[in-house]
Amino acid sequence: MRSESFHGASVTILASLTLYDWFAGFTLSGWVAFSLVGNFAIFGASVALCGWIGQRFADRKLFEAAQPITRGDAILAFTAVLLNSLVAIVGWMLWKAGWIRITHPAWWRTVLDVVIFLGAMDFGMYVFHRLAHHRWIYSWIHARHHTHESVNPISLFVLNPFEVVGFGALMISVMMLVPLSGAAVLIYLTLNVFFGTLGHAGVEPFPESWRRRQLLREIGSSSFHAGHHRTPTTNFGFYTLIWDRLFGTLERPNRPSFRP
Ligand SMILES: [Zn+2]
Ligand SMILES: [Zn+2]
Repeated sequence: MRSESFHGASVTILASLTLYDWFAGFTLSGWVAFSLVGNFAIFGASVALCGWIGQRFADRKLFEAAQPITRGDAILAFTAVLLNSLVAIVGWMLWKAGWIRITHPAWWRTVLDVVIFLGAMDFGMYVFHRLAHHRWIYSWIHARHHTHESVNPISLFVLNPFEVVGFGALMISVMMLVPLSGAAVLIYLTLNVFFGTLGHAGVEPFPESWRRRQLLREIGSSSFHAGHHRTPTTNFGFYTLIWDRLFGTLERPNRPSFRP
C-alpha cells in the first residue's frame, strides 16, 4: 500500500516535470501560437460545457430567458480570449526569466497548493470585484458585464479588457509571491474555467441537498453568481461564499428557488 502510493506520487511528479519541460522547450513564437490555440480551445470547451449543463439541467433554470448574444458580446469575448493568451505569454516569460517559480512536490503539497492558490485568488477577486462596483469605477469598467441581466454561454468572456488583464495580473502576482506546484497551477486553471462556466450556465446543476451540508454550501454554485447578476449588490465572490458571508454581502436566502 505504502509503495503503491509512493509509486502514484512519483508518477504525478514525473508527469508534471515532463509537461513543464515541454513548456520550457518552446520558442517565444511557438509559445505565442500554443497560447492562442490553447485559449481558443478553452473558450470552445467552456461554451460547449455551458451548453451541455444548460440542456442536462434544463428543468432547473435560474432565469426566464437566456441573454441574447449580441455582436458587441462576440467582439468582447474574442478580445478576452486574445488577452488571456497574452497573460499566458507574460506568465511563461516571467517563469522562464525566474520571476515565477514552479515546483514539483509530493501530492499532498500539490493539494495544499491548489487550496492556497484558490484561496488567494478567491479573496483577491472578491476585493477587486467589490472595488469594480464602486461608483467611480463601475460605469467605465464593470458595467458591461452587468448588461447581462441573465446569462448566455459567452457571458463569462463578456468583460471589459481591463478586467481580463486585471484577473491575469492578480494571478501572476500570486504566482510571483508563492512558488506553486506545477500540477496545482494546472488544476487551479481548470477549476477556474469550470467555476466561471458554472456561474454563467443559467441553471443549477448542484443538488438542493448540498445547501444543508456545511462544507458544500460554501462552494460558489451557479445560482450564487446568478444572484449577483440579478442583484449586483450581493454575491461578489467566485469560488466560495466565505468572503460574502464574512463581509455581509451574501444574498439571502443564498440559493433562491429555481425559476420556472
Ligand atoms: Zn458574471
Ligand atoms: Zn459584478
